[in-house]
Amino acid sequence: MDQKAEEIIADLKSYLQYLREIGIEALPISEERPENVSRPTPATLDEIRRELGDCKRCKLHRTRRTIVFGEGSGKAKLMLIGEGPGFDEDLQGRPFVGKAGQLLTRILHSIHLQREEVYITNIIKCRPPQNRNPEPDEINSCNPFLMNQIHAIQPKIICALGTFSAQTLLKTDTKITALRGKFHEMAGIKVFPTYHPAYLLRNPERKREVWEDMKQISQWMKENDESAQPAGESRR
Ligand code: URA
Repeated sequence: MDQKAEEIIADLKSYLQYLREIGIEALPISEERPENVSRPTPATLDEIRRELGDCKRCKLHRTRRTIVFGEGSGKAKLMLIGEGPGFDEDLQGRPFVGKAGQLLTRILHSIHLQREEVYITNIIKCRPPQNRNPEPDEINSCNPFLMNQIHAIQPKIICALGTFSAQTLLKTDTKITALRGKFHEMAGIKVFPTYHPAYLLRNPERKREVWEDMKQISQWMKENDESAQPAGESRR
């Protein structure tokens, strides 16, 4: 085998090891559309977006208007991951721009962050019909792209918004009420679940808990801000 082929195989092996480490045990390979299969290691968000293309990997492509990839800083320390686009997001192609999104923007402001400083995306990139819950095959189709987004951004902490986000990232069936308000970990990255802003719109009495959660995230980010810390201090 020539040297180039050996290098390609070594790269592929290390990429597959990385995928296993972050919990991906299967890749979505469609026999009908082999040209659409994800290729290894798209390094930048632009490359990942290009790889996603005009995605038809799951049935949601038939009813969506727009793919909602995500937006914000490619160097964000905080990444927020919701469930999936709703009506407004599907129209505009941007995450969290409807009523729940406006509340999320205010929640970020409460810890002195602007949307442009964080990265916001969703577990699934296409709106399910009538905003129904995402189905497992839809989550699985999007998962490699979400993992690549996380890999590209390398946030210090992920705020999982709501049940689907928290359960998908943490690979658990545990209820959001038990998951929220605590630090978890996924592939070496802190994951801090809280309630989804849409849930808060229906249950405003829960806002206080989210406020407490956001304060914990903000505090953790301050304590772990390497740019402001003398070298050698340990992270929690
Ligand atoms: N709800 C979500 O989970 N994501 C959005 O982008 C909008 C609403």
